[in-house]
Amino acid sequence: MMEINKLGKVFNSHKVLDDIDLNVEKGDVIAIIGPSGAGKSTFLRCLIDLERRDSGSVNIDGIELNPDDKKCVEKVQAKMGMVFQSFNLFPHMTVLKNVMIAPVRVKKAEKKEVEKKARELLKKVGLSDRVDYYPSQLSGGQQQRVAIARALAMNPELMLFDEPTSALDPELVGEVLKVMKDLADDGMTMVVVTHEMGFAREVANKVIFMEKGKIIESGTPKEIFFAPKTERTREFLKKVI
Ligand code: ATP
Ligand code: MG
Repeated sequence: MMEINKLGKVFNSHKVLDDIDLNVEKGDVIAIIGPSGAGKSTFLRCLIDLERRDSGSVNIDGIELNPDDKKCVEKVQAKMGMVFQSFNLFPHMTVLKNVMIAPVRVKKAEKKEVEKKARELLKKVGLSDRVDYYPSQLSGGQQQRVAIARALAMNPELMLFDEPTSALDPELVGEVLKVMKDLADDGMTMVVVTHEMGFAREVANKVIFMEKGKIIESGTPKEIFFAPKTERTREFLKKVI
């Protein structure tokens, strides 16, 4: 469903992404792991033109992402939902409103329908009893689950996660990973940058190890975690597991 070819990005004459190739099939759960500064976030951001790529191509469902074509960028962005480390909820809106706002504004969808869907999504992430709360009245884990529901409200075909649990207290990580696992079990296509090796091992069907702007190794969780081919992957895993 998504094909990335030789994606490149340069910051201050420093190659942050160096010829990244990746194929994402429908239903894939791809975990991207690697040290700080590897280019993981930049890579995700290039996929939705939050960061402008310098070379290579991104193709989703046969649409070539052309950064100079605003309509095309919007079309591609509409196919993807993104969840960040910081939850970025609107502080002055209730949980329900946060989830409803994008479909109402962007898609000009019928409010009653949007509300029904928003309530369903909030139920799915376990927050039916918090719909009228404001973000400041929620824990970090709850806020992140709202952020996931909000991204899902736009009916994305593909969800991108950038370290969704890194800002959370350890005891709140599990509830967010559980929601992500449920999503994966429902068949959602997902690309997840994560330091949660348990999630990468148990939920992903493909793991990618990135370092210094390059994909060093990719394979099934079994291959990467139990039989890494490169010394660099082995070293990295030794440090994080
Ligand atoms: P982390 O695990 O710490 O989140 P990462 O793998 O997500 O790291 P990136 O944030 O993608 O890494 O950064 C890759 C490189 O690009 C780093 O060297 C970073 O300093 C640089 N970089 C990222 N964004 C910018 C920017 N807007 N301007 C200049 N350099 C940047
Ligand atoms: Mg990052």
